Amino acid sequence: MRGVYFNKEEVELRDVDKIAGEGARVRVRSIGICGSDLHMLEMKFPIKCIAGHEAAGLLDDGTPVAVEPISPCNECSYCRSGDYNLCRSATATLLGVGRDGCMTEELRMPERSLVHLPSNVDVKDACLVEPLAVAVHGLRKAGLTSGQRVAVIGGGTIGLCAVAATADGGRVVGLAARYEHQIAAGKRLGAVPVDGKYDLVVECTGAKDALKQAVDLCCAGGRVLLLGTYWEGVSLSMAVMLKEIVVVSSYMYSASGAARDFDVAATLLSRHPEIARALITHRFPLSEAKQAFAVARDRKSGAIKVVLEP
Ligand SMILES: [Zn+2]
Ligand SMILES: [Zn+2]
Repeated sequence: MRGVYFNKEEVELRDVDKIAGEGARVRVRSIGICGSDLHMLEMKFPIKCIAGHEAAGLLDDGTPVAVEPISPCNECSYCRSGDYNLCRSATATLLGVGRDGCMTEELRMPERSLVHLPSNVDVKDACLVEPLAVAVHGLRKAGLTSGQRVAVIGGGTIGLCAVAATADGGRVVGLAARYEHQIAAGKRLGAVPVDGKYDLVVECTGAKDALKQAVDLCCAGGRVLLLGTYWEGVSLSMAVMLKEIVVVSSYMYSASGAARDFDVAATLLSRHPEIARALITHRFPLSEAKQAFAVARDRKSGAIKVVLEP
């Protein structure tokens, strides 16, 4: 078995002698390369484990599943209320960060972290359930309602997942994206260019200028959802106060009652096959992980989601 490791700024495929984790065995069939993987690589984060947190695969009996890449404790007050993303064990057990990740051929996960896929979702597309769940969770936290005008800033995977999750309710979504191929993908998912002011602005880039733009696009009394990763922190302009903007933060995914954000995301992928077609631009075998990362890192490659297939 092999696994993808980060060695300073290099991607390395190394031999692995045993299956990581505990619980049911998942034979991995698709893995997404995430913007945070690229960031950790570029920043030379000292990650000692196998990389990757966006995965789908097959159980021993052939059941296709998406993997929720955290193993919360199930016992603390956060876990009991459904906010298990806030459990101390959630970040500590995050695949590819706190423990060996999914950029490998097989891994083990506890039963509760497995999400059974609707029958029409191809396991080779289902690594998208994870970023879709990020968008579903954020929009739930922001209190998205049917009549709202919504804008999304950023045309990467998370931005386009936010477009897809918002457009699902029949809403018109404004999209501000930098690259032509991102705008084209947004269009396929129902987005139009941003125009005017919005009740909810979803900032998906994690960049300072984009956050300023989000505040500009937000109407007085509106909401800005922080869905990007702000590695260097954020600073907010005075307009946030003058317009009484509610800033909503969001981290990973959890559950509302019995419905996990992951379940909602899997259903979304099943209802809109266009999501996978618009987002997955490249596929590589695991053995070509190095090339796959090079394509994902090259902003001019036209890549949105680059997928590894063990
Ligand atoms: Zn990710
Ligand atoms: Zn807990």
